Amino acid sequence: MNHMNKSTEYWQGLDRAHHLHPFTDAKSLNEKGVRVMTKADGVYLWDSEGNRVLDGMAGLWCVNLGYGRKELVDAAQRQMLELPFYNTFFQTSNIPATELAGLLAEVAPAGMKHAFFANSGSEAVDTAIRMVRRYWQAEGLPERNVIISRNNAYHGSSVAGACLGGMGAMHEQSGLMMPGFEHIMQPYWYQDGGDLSPEEFGLVAARALEERILAVGPEKVAAFIGEPIQGAGGVIVPPDSYWPEIQRICNQYGILLIADEVICGFGRTGNWFGSQTFGFTPDLMTMAKGMSSGYMPISAVMVGERVANTLIEKSGEFYHGYTYSGHPVAAAVAIENIRILKEERIIERVAEDTGPYFQEKLQIFAEHPLVGEVVGRGLVAGMVLVKDKKTRELYENGSDVGTMCRNHCFSNGLIMRACGDRMVLSPPLIISRAEIDEMLDKAKYCLDLAAKDLGKL
Ligand SMILES: *Cc1c(COP(=O)(O)O)cnc(C)c1O
Repeated sequence: MNHMNKSTEYWQGLDRAHHLHPFTDAKSLNEKGVRVMTKADGVYLWDSEGNRVLDGMAGLWCVNLGYGRKELVDAAQRQMLELPFYNTFFQTSNIPATELAGLLAEVAPAGMKHAFFANSGSEAVDTAIRMVRRYWQAEGLPERNVIISRNNAYHGSSVAGACLGGMGAMHEQSGLMMPGFEHIMQPYWYQDGGDLSPEEFGLVAARALEERILAVGPEKVAAFIGEPIQGAGGVIVPPDSYWPEIQRICNQYGILLIADEVICGFGRTGNWFGSQTFGFTPDLMTMAKGMSSGYMPISAVMVGERVANTLIEKSGEFYHGYTYSGHPVAAAVAIENIRILKEERIIERVAEDTGPYFQEKLQIFAEHPLVGEVVGRGLVAGMVLVKDKKTRELYENGSDVGTMCRNHCFSNGLIMRACGDRMVLSPPLIISRAEIDEMLDKAKYCLDLAAKDLGKL
């Protein structure tokens, strides 16, 4: 390929001149120049300098089947030749969209039989917001429109998603916050648990929902939304007591429960969905990322019976949808992705073999001088970089410490992300035991470098 002959400097110059990157300080990126990824296979990426990197983040929590899966490419190509596009608006469908809806109903928890398609996690979240409000209108209770979320939650980057999520920096840049969103504490025991046991703290964090419902007025609350494990927030794993208590509270006040499964869905935690891992039953689930292993943009909201019945029987036309809702090519790739997950028993392998192996080996970091808690499920984990292990004191400049550690990884052949002061791993689900060993050896090497920088080793 011709463009391969161009130099890294060429691509960096072009990028600097014309490309504005998401979640990036453009000025500091421009000073050092962007890293240009050129190809990938399995769990490895290569950059334009020929460096091989182990991708401990599966792209952006999404390339669950790993890179270079020809079946996914062939599925897209076949569908592009057959029917590259037709919309699903005007009383029409296409075969992949319909087939995918049926398949999702099979793999989703019992009672979730309907799918609404979109193209990204942000769009799925927007769809869920509009859908729960439409649900309550159709039920004759339009004043039920407040949606409760958590601090440090991530629900996408649309205007509504930025307000609904709990990222303080995103709220600040939003200028005007949208009304109708409320935030409660997150279930982050290491930071906020004090002297409580994790299980006691899980109940306290869940009961913050009940308090807020009562403060707002139960007759005004439409839904609660949460990621089973907070991903971008730093892989915050709630205590086991948390989700069942959230479920009890939602049931008691008749509030809809939305699980944002954009990261946890499609096997990440060792079950098809994170809500299954934590033992709760949402009314709606948003999903994206792993849905197509990132090979095509596609997302969905899975809708349980309660909401589906109302939308179908009482709502009339729901004025919502995207040109590419149910895009046949993206749907064809998602179908093939599900087929491979099932046929190769990849989720079972995460549950029984690679997940437990990864979690157990990770515990070596619990002894590391720079690391506080190490938590995870299946093939996702987070660890916090701490100033004082004994007192659980965090660094004031935590995200600088995280960035420093992340940069060591970057220069040493490993993609490990920093979310503030938490280092996170979420590798492709096809990763082998040997590759897990390599990933954790590299992670250890880089944590040691960061600890040396901080005078801790
Ligand atoms: C990534 C993510 C989103 C947003 O998805 P996009 O495809 O980036 O719009 C929403 N919710 C969660 C939990 C996510 O991790």
